[in-house]
Amino acid sequence: MNERVHVALPGGAYDVEIGPGLLAKSGSFVAPLLHRPRVVVISDENVAALHLETLRAGLASEGISMEALCLPPGEGTKCWAELTRCVEWLLDQQVERGDVVVAFGGGVIGDLVGFAASVLRRGVRFVQIPTSLLAQVDSSVGGKTGINTHHGKNLVGAFHQPSLVLADTAVLGTLEPRDFLAGYGEVVKYGLLGDAAFFDWLEQKGPALADGNGAVRVEAVRRSVQMKADIVVRDETEQGERALLNLGHTFGHALEAATGYSNRLLHGEGVAIGCAMAFELSSRIGLCSQEAPSRVRAHLRTMGMKVDLADIEGDLPDADALLGLMGQDKKVVEGQLRFILARDIGEAFVTGDVSKTDVLAVLKDALAQR
Ligand code: NAD
Repeated sequence: MNERVHVALPGGAYDVEIGPGLLAKSGSFVAPLLHRPRVVVISDENVAALHLETLRAGLASEGISMEALCLPPGEGTKCWAELTRCVEWLLDQQVERGDVVVAFGGGVIGDLVGFAASVLRRGVRFVQIPTSLLAQVDSSVGGKTGINTHHGKNLVGAFHQPSLVLADTAVLGTLEPRDFLAGYGEVVKYGLLGDAAFFDWLEQKGPALADGNGAVRVEAVRRSVQMKADIVVRDETEQGERALLNLGHTFGHALEAATGYSNRLLHGEGVAIGCAMAFELSSRIGLCSQEAPSRVRAHLRTMGMKVDLADIEGDLPDADALLGLMGQDKKVVEGQLRFILARDIGEAFVTGDVSKTDVLAVLKDALAQR
């Protein structure tokens, strides 16, 4: 039996199905959404090589045919050129307003294909079949879609909720360990921002999760999705509480920009380092004890994750330049940087009341340790 989290959004509720082997059963979940027995699927080359035929067979078992487009893997694919390619291909496939587009891959594919679906014929429905840990616990739920531009990450996009999310936890087994751990950065984030008991649980179960324990993986995805769903239902378009999900992202996005959105630093790695820095900043300005950042860092280290700026290979810009990169973040309001800080593990809050001097001090010290 799989687990189900219901995302009770008034304008369009949907289910997130979580469990091993869902690709093989995909037809039975997707069929009720279809007006005709055909879907179009957009994936990336890595995911397609490993799992596309399982998905095809799962859909075919309910008589659903499938056409697929495979894009190059990697963050660089979340761009204008690939968006154009997706939309033109969907039009070539004669996708109609009543059809369903399937995003089959990690967060890159989910964000890009969700955005393509949102603009195609002024919006067609789409199904998320997330295949990375990051996508299963975070990006496939909540309806944020978009691409990057040379101005920064996720600066162009739309809120477009999926009609269904199928998170097959068995496919996590083919992820590269580094990609799995990057996704774990977002799992830890949930504990840190609002659920200290979940963080305690992760301290105990994290190693089993990384080792491939199926039941622990299902439980970690379920709890993460439940938490995200609860927050999204209360604040769909990020007028307030949803911003908490950006814990670690103001630092993380600046580091991603500084490393050129390249393989030097994956998104989830940036989030993990960013969470450690957000707790460091919180401790320095007296919001939380010094023990909290130490505990965060210790857990990330135990999991074999990047924790410090010293863990990023190659040159980094100086503290002033990193602060400048934070200024491009979407979370800037009227020129004021907004940070997610914490009073303790599980007690994060949003604030615009952070002095640049304090942020610079944290960045300078972190750079000095490299
Ligand atoms: P990704 O999509 O690039 O996937 C990471 C790598 O894993 C890729 O090489 C991919 O081909 C590979 N992969 C995926 N599933 C696999 C599998 N089952 N087996 C083997 N390889 C597999 O990156 P990601 O970490 O999944 O997502 C990062 C993106 O998500 C970023 O662009 C970020 O901005 C976005 N994001 C969006 C939201 C949101 O709310 N929309 C939230 C968090 C992150």
